[in-house]
Amino acid sequence: MPTTPPKARILLKQSRAKVFRLYPFTIQLNYETPHQTQPVEIRIDYGAKTHGIALVQQCRTHDRAIFLGEAKQRQDVKKKMDQRRELRRLRRYRNTRYRKRRFHRRRPEGSLPPTITQRIEAITRITKTLQKMTPITSAIAETGAFDTQKMIHPQIQGVQYQQGPGYESENRRHTVLAYFNYTCQYCGTTEGVMTEEHVIPKGKGGTDSWSNLTCACLSCNTKKGGRTPGEADMPNPETVNPRNTNFLRFCALTQSGKTRLVEELQKLMPTQTVYGWQTKQNRQAAKLPKTHYFDALCTRDTFAKPLKLTSTIHTIKLKRRNTRQTHYSNPTKNGRMRPYNEHKELYGYKKGDLIGTPYGLAYVDAITESKQLFFTTISNGLRHKISPHKARLVETAKSIQFFGHRQTDELG
Ligand SMILES: [Zn+2]
Repeated sequence: MPTTPPKARILLKQSRAKVFRLYPFTIQLNYETPHQTQPVEIRIDYGAKTHGIALVQQCRTHDRAIFLGEAKQRQDVKKKMDQRRELRRLRRYRNTRYRKRRFHRRRPEGSLPPTITQRIEAITRITKTLQKMTPITSAIAETGAFDTQKMIHPQIQGVQYQQGPGYESENRRHTVLAYFNYTCQYCGTTEGVMTEEHVIPKGKGGTDSWSNLTCACLSCNTKKGGRTPGEADMPNPETVNPRNTNFLRFCALTQSGKTRLVEELQKLMPTQTVYGWQTKQNRQAAKLPKTHYFDALCTRDTFAKPLKLTSTIHTIKLKRRNTRQTHYSNPTKNGRMRPYNEHKELYGYKKGDLIGTPYGLAYVDAITESKQLFFTTISNGLRHKISPHKARLVETAKSIQFFGHRQTDELG
């Protein structure tokens, strides 16, 4: 375990094995064997945008990385939740009688926001899928630990952690106006009414952080409106905190929910955690380039035993099946609501099916209105349309898709 392609071919020919999954190609033996597996560890690099995943088989003389992959993280969860809330509210206004407002509706204890839960579920789902193909015995995950204050002010120490710009000030507005001494940061006037200003407007995703707040006179603020300084053709103003702190969002994402992640993995198998600096040390000692999958691989010191690498790098995609929301919010021009999933099936093909095409193996992304299959190829991500009569069904849809490409120069 795992076997070689020639041997797998012989086993299949003699019907001693059957195909379990076509991509990544996995076979299952038709007969019982004595216990002959080696321990396999799943190594996870829990990231903000991309997770790295590596499966390492621990043999007696060497370690073998049998699977290297990256899982792209969904970034649209918040948007989708907002959309759902909006649609729900509208529907209830239309369809239900008046109900008294309910208060103190708390989330159950220990619940996490959907953006975080979704990330954890993604990793556990991938782990479970890989577990069906390989007997994984243990897990190790790299979790982030950031001192976000120190990332903004490297000199910060002691009591300064508690004394930010808003310390001992009455409120946020007062802090901002007093910081700039009641001077407009756009035109420089000190006359008239001063207002607290969001440089990137809240409607465009701007936050209440100190790096987005400045002081503006009423006329400048009105002139700018809901636009960014660039759009309104105005100079970029100074802010309370000159350093852009948008990147902290990603630190927060990797920090939150890591305890839950370990808990969830613990339910499946014994799990350990390591810190980023340990991974970095291991990766530099092994002289491997910085990628998410090598980061995952280096959560343990890979140089203790000789290491054999697989040459295929996988991209893992979690496929969303439900498209009801887009269906509801996009009625046709004449206002008619199309039947849900009108283009669900075409000559037996469904979205997510693995098909054979002249361009190679591919996943069906969509069924077009012109009765064609829109697909993405596995090996090079080519996107094309094809008539269903020219395609060949290889495997029915699975909610986790694997894409693979050869990586020869990186592995040198
Ligand atoms: Zn002004």
